[in-house]
Order: sequence, then structure tokens, then C-alpha cells
Amino acid sequence: MSMRKLTTTCCIAGGGPAGIMLGFLLARAGVDTVVLEKHADFFRDFRGDTIHPTTIDLIDQLGLREKFDAIRQSHIHTLDVVVNGNRLTPVNFSKLRGRNDYIALMPQWDFLSLLAEEGATYPNFHLMMGATATGLLHKGERVSGIAAATQDGDIEIEAALTVAADGRDSALRDAAGLVPTDYGVAIDVLWFRLPRTKVDPPDTLAYLDTESMIITIPREGYYQSGLLIPKGDFAKIQDDGIPAFRARIVRVAPFLAEVVESITGWDQVKLLTVQVNRLSQWWQDGLLCIGDAAHAMSPAFGVGINYAIQDAVAAANLLVDDLRAGSVSTDELARVQKRRLPPVARMQPIQLRLHDVVAKPGGGGFLANPMTWWQRSIAAIALPILRLFTARIVGRGFRPEVLEKQLNPR
Ligand SMILES: Cc1cc2nc3c(=O)[nH]c(=O)nc-3n(C[C@H](O)[C@H](O)[C@H](O)COP(=O)(O)OP(=O)(O)OC[C@H]3O[C@@H](n4cnc5c(N)ncnc54)[C@H](O)[C@@H]3O)c2cc1C
Repeated sequence: MSMRKLTTTCCIAGGGPAGIMLGFLLARAGVDTVVLEKHADFFRDFRGDTIHPTTIDLIDQLGLREKFDAIRQSHIHTLDVVVNGNRLTPVNFSKLRGRNDYIALMPQWDFLSLLAEEGATYPNFHLMMGATATGLLHKGERVSGIAAATQDGDIEIEAALTVAADGRDSALRDAAGLVPTDYGVAIDVLWFRLPRTKVDPPDTLAYLDTESMIITIPREGYYQSGLLIPKGDFAKIQDDGIPAFRARIVRVAPFLAEVVESITGWDQVKLLTVQVNRLSQWWQDGLLCIGDAAHAMSPAFGVGINYAIQDAVAAANLLVDDLRAGSVSTDELARVQKRRLPPVARMQPIQLRLHDVVAKPGGGGFLANPMTWWQRSIAAIALPILRLFTARIVGRGFRPEVLEKQLNPR
């Protein structure tokens, strides 16, 4: 079969939050854009279902609120954690200004489908599902597009700008020889679903004790649950058997005793590796990395999707004029990194610190049950102060991005 060749203005590898949002924004602004997604649909493993207030603000800006609200979702206004039996509320989004003072929880595939469907209403948006980016094309030193494998054979796509939005294991980043610095997180997460209990406790992000930490994201009809384990311990946990796994869950979150029997085999439990890393340079001539391809975020505070989307908005704001003109300089690509690196470089250490101290198996050991008088006193003083900052840092991020006027539809 002969090699198919296409030409576009911006070719994006990866149909996750970063890639789909960037493709949609550029196509909406009149820039011809191809997005390649290696899966045939968006219905993938759990990859985080959180839509943060800044992203909901963006949905308002895009005029998609009605369609967004029509997606089945639940809302959480606080991030409660139960530490050794003591309920704490370190984050309360009602402290945020504006109407979007909550996190929406919805299946990521529904959110991506909404953006893809909206993108498809613009003639410049070309989403190729089941298309895997396999390498970069070059013209001299400059990256000039993507080589990809599709269901209909191999294809080469020439582009003024190539974007690697292909996630933490980015093939394009590897092809460019860009190597992220890894900051070494010592945990992984085992994800599984548990049915909701007959009497729901208040919405709770996580339960911690001196042995384990379990995430219990409240979803309609189930808890999206995750057990934090030391990196590399999954085989040992499997050897200990399902009854021991269930017992561990119940020890840290006793209210789950009535539903934990629903886990009957390891096929219901998915290992997801946690990474925190970032590139020192997010770009080369003709190439830009965004989202997890530039900086893998851990699940702590569930901000990775929001950061990926904010990268897409910043890139679209900064590059759209050059893309309309048909070429993007390295200075402009460097400006994208300059804009987005500071919020990433401030958030990642917070995630790492959280994993060092609390968000790890046994991290709940710092509180007695019941709390000692001085622990109660410190909590009474510290938590209200903490809440003044956390809602903003978690909900809106260090540098929330908004659509600038150059992105208006053309
Ligand atoms: C266990 C775990 C739980 C998490 N929970 C949350 C959470 O609750 N909330 C949150 O905000 N963040 C969470 N995160 C982080 C979040 O998943 C990422 O930060 C976010 O998805 C990054 O978005 P992205 O678009 O950059 O990359 P991704 O979401 O990884 O999307 C990349 C896309 O590229 C596609 N792709 C990959 N390779 C190719 C290729 N060669 N060619 C074409 N397509 C390709 C993939 O199929 C995928 O669709 C979690 C992370 C982990 C590990």
C-alpha cells in the first residue's frame, strides 16, 4: 500500500484532555488541525474524572454550559479526608468566588466526547481515532510533522506545528530525544469500583490510617476507589489474595465492609503507576510538548487534567496568530513554556510533599485516635487558614488561563 500524505497547520498526537482541547480551540479559531488518538474511542481505563472550577469557567467561556450540564455528573464542594478516624476538611471550594465553586465528577470520555463533538462542527477540525503517532518527520533540523499508523495503513502528516499531547509515555517526546527529569514518587495506585453503601457517609476523598490510604471518590452509584501501595508491591498484594485485600480496605475504611465483597477477582483491580516528572525544555523547532507529555502530574488533588487543559489554552492563546500566518517560531514555543512552567513547578513539589508525608500507605499515622488536645488545637487554628489558600490552589491553580480575543471563532 502506498504511503498516504496529508498537510495541515497543526498536527497533535494524543486525544486526551490536552490534545482534544487544543485541537478544538485552534479549529474553532480557524486553524486547520489534525488530532491523532491511538484508541478507537474515548472509553478507556479510569484516568481521572475531575473537572475543576477553572475548566468549568472555560466551558462557560466557550458557551458550552448547557451541553456540559446535560452530562451525568456529581459535584463535590469539599475535599474531606478521614485521618485515623478523624474527619478533616482541608479544602472547601465554597471559598471560591464565582458560581463554579465545586469540582464536577463525570466520566472523562463524556467530557472528551463533548469537546470532540463541538470540534467536529468546525470544518478545520480533523480527529483521527485509532491513529497512533509512531515518529516525527523532519525538514533539516526542524520537526515538520508526524508519521502515524492508522487502521487504513501508514500515513505522514506535514504540519507547521507538531504537538506532543500523548501523555506520560509520550512516543513523540522520545522520538525528539527529550528526556524528562523524574522526581520519584514511591507509590502506585490500585483502582477499582465499589458499590455505594446503603447509608452514605459525607463525601470523602480519602481515608488514611497507620497502614493504608484509600481514595473513595463519590460517583453516582459507586465509589471510584484507589488503594495507595508502595511502588512495585502489587505482585505481593496479589499473592496475599483477595480476602486479605478486602480486609485491608475495611481496616482503613470500616464503612466499606458491606460492599467490599463485590471485589471477587484481580481483573476488577487495575494498577496505575504514578509519576511526577517534567521536561527542562518543552519544545524544539516545530515541536511543542504539553500536558503530561511535558510534565506528568500525580493524582494528588486531581489537578492533572486541569493543568493539561490550561496548557492547551495557553498554547492556543499564544500560538494562534502565528499558526494563522503558517509558521511558528521557537521564540513563541518558548513563551508557552515560560507561561506554563511556573504553575507546574509550584504544583509538583506540593504533590511530592503530600506523597512524602501523607498521601502514602501509613501516612495517617501522624494523628492519634482520638486526637490529642494539642492536635485538636493545631487543627482548629491551621485548617481555617489552610482553607483560605487550598480552594484557590487546587480549584483554580496557580495561573488560571482564559480564552483571549484572538481565539474568537473565524
Ligand atoms: C492513577 C492516576 C489517577 C489520576 N487521577 C486524576 C484525577 O482524578 N484528576 C486529574 O485531574 N488528574 C488525574 N490524574 C492525572 C491525569 O490523568 C493526567 O495529568 C492527565 O490525563 C493529562 O492529560 P494529557 O491530555 O496530557 O494526557 P493523557 O490524559 O494521558 O492523554 C494522552 C492521550 O494520548 C493518547 N496517545 C498516547 N500515545 C499516543 C500515540 N503514540 N499516538 C496517538 N495517541 C496517543 C492516549 O491514548 C491518550 O488518549 C491521575 C493520574 C494517575 C496516574
